[in-house]
Formats: sequence, C-alpha cells, structure tokens
Amino acid sequence: MRHLVLAAAVLSFTACSMMQRSQTEQIVAATLITDQQETDLGFQVHEELKKENTKFLDVPDVGFYVSGLVQKLTPQADKDRPGVKWQYFVIDDPKTVNAFATPGGRIYIYTGLLLAADTEAEVVGVVGHELAHVVARHSARQLVAAKGLETVAAMALGKDPSDVALLAAGLLGKGSIMAYGRDMELEADQYGAKYANGAGYDPRGLATFFEKLKAKGELPQFLTFLSTHPSNTERIEKITALIAANGYQSTEQGVASLKAIQAKIPKQ
Ligand code: ZN
Repeated sequence: MRHLVLAAAVLSFTACSMMQRSQTEQIVAATLITDQQETDLGFQVHEELKKENTKFLDVPDVGFYVSGLVQKLTPQADKDRPGVKWQYFVIDDPKTVNAFATPGGRIYIYTGLLLAADTEAEVVGVVGHELAHVVARHSARQLVAAKGLETVAAMALGKDPSDVALLAAGLLGKGSIMAYGRDMELEADQYGAKYANGAGYDPRGLATFFEKLKAKGELPQFLTFLSTHPSNTERIEKITALIAANGYQSTEQGVASLKAIQAKIPKQ
C-alpha cells in the first residue's frame, strides 16, 4: 500500500503546480519516512544533545509555562497532522536566541529566546513555527530535496528499508535535516501565524520578533538556513499578507505573563 501511494505521488510530482507541490511532497515524505522512523530520529538527536552536555533547564515554573504555551497550539497542529506525541524541552542557554524541532515532535526552546522576546505572542509565533516543521514533515521533505526525489523514491521502493534510515541518519549527522530551505521556512511561518491566531494571540508576533532581531542586526541560529533562506523582510511581508488575506484578528500579547517568567530564568 505504501508503495502504491508513493508511485502515484511520484507520477503526479512532475506535473503539478507550486501549491500542489507542498502537498505532494508531504505525501511522499510520509510514505518514505514512517512515524516510527521519525520518532527514532528524534530520539537519536536527543541522545546526541545529552552527549554534547546540553544543559536542560530545571526550573519547574518555567517548564509549566512553556508546557502551557505548547498545549495552546498543539490541538491545532494535531488537526493538521494527527498522532504526533509532542514533547518540549527548555535549554538553559540565555545567550542563544534559538528554538528547533526534531522529527517525531520534540520541541526545544532556549532560555535566550524566552529572554529576547517582548511578548508571549512572539514566543507563541516561534513555537508555532517549530510545530509546523513537524506537521509538514519538513525533515523528510528535506531528505527528498537534498537527495532528489527519484533517488529517495528508488530507495524506498527498493528491497532494503534500512537504506532510508541510513540516509536519514547521514543527513542528521551533518545537521542538514534541520536546515530547511526557503519554501519550508516560509511555510512554517504561515503555520506559526495561523496557530498563534487560533490560540488567541496576535499573529503578528512572529513578524515583530523578526523585525526586532533585524533591527538589532542579530541573526539567531534558527534564522540561519541554507544560502537560499528567505530574508527577514520577505518573511515579514509574507506573514503580514497572510494575516490580511485571512482576516486574523486575535490580539493577546501576553506581556505581563512573559515578564513574570523571565524573572525566573537564570541570566547566565
Ligand atoms: Zn524554521
């Protein structure tokens, strides 16, 4: 059954519009990399982080806070991709403005990002963006983008299923499985704004966060992508256009609640 779906997806891939392309890629990705493989990959990355002595924050109030934010967004993400077992981790690194997601649904947020944000709406926008990378199967799609659809499809259709796992592990090792291309970043921004709005937050938070970082001349790691990554200006324009097109009107900023939690985050 998997192979039939894949063959159909491959056939339609060559003759489809840009809009259909993302959907087709998602079908291909879902067929190539199973949910279990994604979970395994996510587990591998987590083990790697522990080996690198990543310091996870152990401040219960901050943990509850981040958990609460994630839970405001996951019901929407679950509609777009059911069955993901979301987990979140706060990394104790106040100097790093970063967040990332790994295949399978682990979300990592640096304390530096929580400290750099002025509103909860900004944090929620970034978290929504990260959930989107999982929802839209970007790591599997990245595999296809990096290796070529035909190569990956041939492998998936081949007799040795471990080929795909090896390939995925190889990409993971170089970090490229989480270095998404321009289209995927823009797509994640769109989901991020949608999810923030759906949770009652000002969907412009993601854009204002980019604006602010741009003004400071800072390019945090999660904005450092492949050479084709979208500029902040382009991202802000696209988010603004999406909000106008969909009439998003949520307004919650969450300034006081974020300030209260920032006070509990170690600053060094
Ligand atoms: Zn991203």
